[in-house]
Amino acid sequence: MPERQSIRCLLLDNNEQALNCLEQQLHAQGVFQTRLCQSPDDALQTLAAGDHFDIVFTKLHMPQFDGIEMIRHLNQQPQPSAVVLTDCRDNKLLGSVDLLAREKGMQLLGALDRRPNKQTLANMLDNYDPNYRRHCQPPRLALSPSMLRSAIFQRQIEAFFQPQICVNSGRLVGAEALAYWRHPGKGIISADHFIPLAEQCGLIPELTRLVFQFCCRQLQTWLKQGINISLSINLSPLNLDCLNLPETLCEITQRYNLKPEQIIIELTESRVLQDLPTSLDILSRLRLRGFQLSLDDYGTGHSSLEKLRQIPFTELKIDKGFIRAASRQQDSLRILESIVELSKKLELKCVAEGIETPQDWELVQGLRCDTAQGYYIAKPLSNLKFESWAKHYRRGLLSSRAKPRLQPVR
Ligand code: C2E
Ligand code: MG
Ligand code: MG
Repeated sequence: MPERQSIRCLLLDNNEQALNCLEQQLHAQGVFQTRLCQSPDDALQTLAAGDHFDIVFTKLHMPQFDGIEMIRHLNQQPQPSAVVLTDCRDNKLLGSVDLLAREKGMQLLGALDRRPNKQTLANMLDNYDPNYRRHCQPPRLALSPSMLRSAIFQRQIEAFFQPQICVNSGRLVGAEALAYWRHPGKGIISADHFIPLAEQCGLIPELTRLVFQFCCRQLQTWLKQGINISLSINLSPLNLDCLNLPETLCEITQRYNLKPEQIIIELTESRVLQDLPTSLDILSRLRLRGFQLSLDDYGTGHSSLEKLRQIPFTELKIDKGFIRAASRQQDSLRILESIVELSKKLELKCVAEGIETPQDWELVQGLRCDTAQGYYIAKPLSNLKFESWAKHYRRGLLSSRAKPRLQPVR
């Protein structure tokens, strides 16, 4: 968090009195580097002169130039400022502007009333993150198709496992397998960096086979050790181009003496199932053979209700964005409630991902979701770390007769 004295602010308001009032309040908070602008032209000229401001306080409603145009303009700066709106009382509109700013990698610190409360302003200043853009957009790694091809060949790609907990009993019931690349030079690389590349260069079938085998071998070991869980494995929509997928996956599960019922196949709805007849053929046959099917990142894609009707899903996995938003926005909480209700009515297991805080955990308990997963419980863990986590967690369960309490792992 930067020192208050070093924070530079630009204040834009066509009302001189409001400008002076805000400046005084900032002074009272120890922020003295302020530039007041009474018109958008003045603000734009100041920015064009190359001056950098950490935070821009702007009105949303202005006659010729509104706050959204200001955000667009600030985004073109080499290092965009954080933004505070000084006249937004409509929570829905604020939510949309917040989303817009975040999509552009800019920090919206919130909205102030005409007479801002001291604490609200102090919290906004404390929340200001000069490295916001870097944090929300991690640098892309330079990875090539040939590097990925040889990584698959050399088995540098493995699964990490993130625990899934039954919300009602607190018991460990499953894990989601997430592909990670153990790169000799670059370290551990998460799926987001290389799955799109695998999709672009036709390596999804090889990658899926490698991850699936790794998972089945691991599950067989854990079941023998008494770690009795199901495994959720992610598939790409591109896996649904291949009609013999059910046979391939069945053959692997049989090789490790597993039942398909112990595997949950996750599909993301945000990427459309291009060829519906082929997808339906494959997914129905996977289900016939006993695999469970989960609709991942529910709520983020298009025509999701249509897919729920068409495809024999057994589980609905609520996107972490809804969990995040529910604590801030009443509307998101209502949407979340209705997703859980829908899953109950359709007799689908309801899984909440992205549980990061004790408040999120209480939220999903209150909503009566079936299963929870997220950093508050544990981050994705290598197979060895997961094993000791599971044993420790079980021991914790056995030693206390009381309802188990979660031990957050950071
Ligand atoms: P997903 O299936 O929705 O996986 C959840 C992602 O959220 C994971 O990112 C996980 O590390 C992250 N996550 C878990 N808990 C939390 C939390 O509390 N807060 C936050 N902010 N994030 C959390 P990851 O590992 O980068 O995976 C990204 C996506 O890549 C996955 O999203 C999945 O769609 C895809 N993916 C992962 N493994 C595979 C794979 O083996 N095959 C295919 N085709 N796709 C995969
Ligand atoms: Mg998933
Ligand atoms: Mg997900």
